[in-house]
Amino acid sequence: MAIKLELLTQNQEEISFIHRYWATDDTGAFVEPVSALLPFRDIPHGGAVAAYVRNWCEAYDEDQPCSRCGDPVRLNCRSDLKKYVCPTQRQCEACRRLMAAHAQQRKAQAAAELDSRLAEHARQQNEKTCDYQTIGDAEVVLLIALEAAITPRLTAGSFCTYDCEGLSPGDPGVYLRSLYASGVLVKRPFESVAGTYFLKNDDLWVNNDQVKYALAPDPQHNAACELFDILASRELSDGPNIAELWLTYALQDVMAYFWNECSTYQHFLKPEAVADVESSFRSALHTFSVAQLWSVGWRVIREAAALANRTYYNREKAAATIPGKVRRHLEKALSEESSLKPWTRREDHPAGTLGMVFLKVFGIDENTLGVDALQVFSRIATPASPTAEPLLSSAHHLMEAAAERGISAHVLIDVAKLVQGGAGIEEAIREVSDKYPGQAEGA
Ligand SMILES: [Zn+2]
Repeated sequence: MAIKLELLTQNQEEISFIHRYWATDDTGAFVEPVSALLPFRDIPHGGAVAAYVRNWCEAYDEDQPCSRCGDPVRLNCRSDLKKYVCPTQRQCEACRRLMAAHAQQRKAQAAAELDSRLAEHARQQNEKTCDYQTIGDAEVVLLIALEAAITPRLTAGSFCTYDCEGLSPGDPGVYLRSLYASGVLVKRPFESVAGTYFLKNDDLWVNNDQVKYALAPDPQHNAACELFDILASRELSDGPNIAELWLTYALQDVMAYFWNECSTYQHFLKPEAVADVESSFRSALHTFSVAQLWSVGWRVIREAAALANRTYYNREKAAATIPGKVRRHLEKALSEESSLKPWTRREDHPAGTLGMVFLKVFGIDENTLGVDALQVFSRIATPASPTAEPLLSSAHHLMEAAAERGISAHVLIDVAKLVQGGAGIEEAIREVSDKYPGQAEGA
């Protein structure tokens, strides 16, 4: 045991006090208790002695080398002294200051690197534009719903996932990321809260929920009102594109109810089980309504909860049976062994503005059977061609063949009836061509 003292005072009284304070015997124990050193001048109590001693002298424990340079570490008070030589993680004052300076420097470098990467990212984002005349129908439907959910921020500022909760039940981030991937939205990195972007292994990472998005500018139509004129006047023609969006939305609507039940009954599902359940529900949405699938979720979760209470079962094992139970219930319903009763929408589970758009534009809500909903979308004509050439060609082939067989009048009347019934011209020509096989090529 060795204590090295570096005196900062020349006052003999103080020097003798310091020596008494740090004096140890052969066993390493302090010779006098601190209380025995008092009274001394105006030191009020034992707890204040160490601070006085530190002012008059720097003490070092030669048995505790700095973990970095090996110099003895500084002792602030008696309890810092070790009785035996021991490996220590402590560093001397000089090394601590050096390490702190290095850490500060690394932090500043990392911040500068992040800033420069973000500036480049922001520059790329600012250069992006979007021609709203050419975006897909699903994007048009989404933008109309998004406008209703976050007006006026959609056209006048930036927004993140949290701001869009009114869009749909479930995670609105799914739609924002899809709009970003289609080039309709751009990111605004410098408007995001600190910590949204970070560097990891030299790559720029991002916390998706905090990303700030904005509408990509359209160089042809600068004003927001012009943009919404474009959207409102769009004649929707890509049925499969909208059907995909509806399936995503309807699945989220089903799963929002399912998660609510899971949380009530404390069921925790593994990611593969979640994927399994989602896949079963998505496939069932081609037949059943969202409200019918809520009842499947309700039943399955309660069955699993009852199972969890049985001997030899626990919550984890019971939760693992959920994907299989969902499949079996749906198989039974499909084979008409059992019927699915629709559940009513709960107050705390609104349809969101996207649900409202599906209702207003297509007359589809949670009670619409999936098979009917998909029928509605399939009736929407396939994407319009840039010119009327294919349509003219189909009509020409149909009428030419009809004339050859002398049934032009019948064909005309059939087409007219279909159009009167709400079918598009292209769809009507296709249906009539199917009715009289061999009439039209490529219709
Ligand atoms: Zn050191």
